[in-house]
Amino acid sequence: MEVETSEGHLKVHKMKKKVLRKQVRAQHTLMRHEGIECISHATQCLVIANAGLGNGMSRHQLLRIVEEYGLVETLLMPPNKPYSFVKYGTTEEAKKAFNALNGKQVTLEDFGQIIVLYVNFVEKVFWQNAVPTSLPPGLMIIEKIVSPEEERRLLESIDWIEDEAQKTLKHRRVKHYGYEFCYDNNNVDKDKPLPGGLPEICDLFLEKCLKQGYIKHKPDQLTVNQYEPGQGIPPHIDTHSAFEDEIISLSLGAEIVMDFKHPDGHTVSIMLPRCSLLVMAGESRYLWTHGYVITPRKYDVVQASELGQKVGTVTVDVGDLTLNRRETRTSFTFRKVRRSPCNCIYPSVCDSQQGQQRQVQPAFPHSEVEASKLEQEYVHKVYEEIATHFSSTRHSPWPRIVEFLRSLPKGSIVADVGCGNGKYLGINEDLYLVGCDRSKNLVDICGEKGFQAFVCDAQSVPIRSGCCDACISIAVIHHFSTAERRLAAIRELARLLRPGGTALIYVWAMEQEYKNQKSKYLKEKNGSKDKEEISTGTAQRPLGDQMPDSSSQDSGCSDGLCNDRKDEGWDAKPVADSRLPVHTNRTSFHSQDLLVPWHLKGGTKKKGEGVGTLLFSAGSKESQELNPVFHRYYHVFCEGELEAACRTVGCVRVQKSYYDQGNWCVVLEKL
Ligand code: MN
Ligand code: ZN
Repeated sequence: MEVETSEGHLKVHKMKKKVLRKQVRAQHTLMRHEGIECISHATQCLVIANAGLGNGMSRHQLLRIVEEYGLVETLLMPPNKPYSFVKYGTTEEAKKAFNALNGKQVTLEDFGQIIVLYVNFVEKVFWQNAVPTSLPPGLMIIEKIVSPEEERRLLESIDWIEDEAQKTLKHRRVKHYGYEFCYDNNNVDKDKPLPGGLPEICDLFLEKCLKQGYIKHKPDQLTVNQYEPGQGIPPHIDTHSAFEDEIISLSLGAEIVMDFKHPDGHTVSIMLPRCSLLVMAGESRYLWTHGYVITPRKYDVVQASELGQKVGTVTVDVGDLTLNRRETRTSFTFRKVRRSPCNCIYPSVCDSQQGQQRQVQPAFPHSEVEASKLEQEYVHKVYEEIATHFSSTRHSPWPRIVEFLRSLPKGSIVADVGCGNGKYLGINEDLYLVGCDRSKNLVDICGEKGFQAFVCDAQSVPIRSGCCDACISIAVIHHFSTAERRLAAIRELARLLRPGGTALIYVWAMEQEYKNQKSKYLKEKNGSKDKEEISTGTAQRPLGDQMPDSSSQDSGCSDGLCNDRKDEGWDAKPVADSRLPVHTNRTSFHSQDLLVPWHLKGGTKKKGEGVGTLLFSAGSKESQELNPVFHRYYHVFCEGELEAACRTVGCVRVQKSYYDQGNWCVVLEKL
């Protein structure tokens, strides 16, 4: 007996030592990796290692565990992290929890896996590394938009049983007001409003939303969804052509975590607390999918908001936590039925625009004549139309281009082939700079600035051979639609140079993120629409639309076409169906040959003027007049493609090549 007891003691002692060791290790890890400082004296606040969302701990389970020791003031579970914070009403309660939970084994409810908790005191419940994860632009969560009393009344107002319009879908119950939503085509029959309109009980709530500015127009369609635990809704974008921009959704009954996904794969998970309002507008409404999983989640990644504020930091509302068990969630989604086609700036996901694209989208050119026509329609005409607006977005010269121009000896004769609004013509007064551009309107703008410029095509520049000391061609050659034509433009630059003269060439890169080099543009990802539109210009595109993955897979580079010259040219293959895809701003390129939209601001179009390449007569007449969308043809270059082309020109050598802000660049020297 005695032996056994002493062995037992030893065991307990060993166990305690082990716990202590692991607890200290947890402390160090928290400090080192997360900047969380554990302290030795008792406070109201604890950090619990291994009880994080990243471990598979659910909020519900952890709450039940920590509530046993007192009133939980705050429970903070940072997304993907292997720890959580809990704040008790008193230090005594925190101490009780500390003693009971440190080293405690817990079985994860969702997985049946056993984990051991290690607990430490912290000064405050605050995730020190709480870098606000950027939310999908245009998304807002407003917490406690309705009171529990209003929630109850709203829920009671739905008569699930007697209504005929009620539908039970695979994963949820649904009821429509205002207009029936048809799941066959994911649209509404706009000519058949349902009798009765929206329930009166929603009026007050909608007034509030209007007054607070969450929505601009009063919704006329309501979908009530009811999800039992374990049910969900697959990722989707609400049909553009069916509803206007802002979509608001009220979460009642139970919180859920909704996943928002950008087409490039970037996912943001956001908790929609009970009684909160989700506002989806702009990019978050048009471009990102939303949904939540039907199978039990591995873990809930929670990103909640501070009361009444835009979601930014990670905190958790403490309100009715004890009620936030997995229950039935009912959502009230209010939308405004759209009366004219969608005119958004996300054509790749816009059904309004895709329908029309099929008819009007040009094909990839298969002959010289087709190529010339394509450029005429989708480059020359467009620049004529957008010249003024385009020019207004092009002021800051790029440093490395300026550097090139400043390095030239005094008195050098320099041709800027494709000079646009003449942004580089005044850079160095010691040079004789002459510009040319295919767009008369842009050349006129140069003239207004007092620069020397004339109209011509970059394939045949009316300047005598060998008389330029230097040439620049900034964001021009990517507008030629065949490899031969791009090569001809490079040859023309070479022809202009005297022996020893140099040419600087910039073209758009397929790779919009290179060697982990992130552009200013990428960092400004949540910037305004204006920024975004400015950035889609030619010469000065401050590094386009880059998200990590996907840019390489469709690039056509893998088959070596880009690097090794083939008899037919070094060009990558045209897109499969030969229709040129329309690029969506701020997404990676999925094709080397594509159309890039230009959203003209404050339309300067005069009545009766030809619309040129104005596509997608979408939106109301007025909005079409004011904000027409133009498409410019681009061939974006793969790594090595520009150099390979230059190497086929006999009389020059590639002196230098580099990547600059989403462009491939070379300096050629005439031999
Ligand atoms: Mn939806
Ligand atoms: Zn749209």
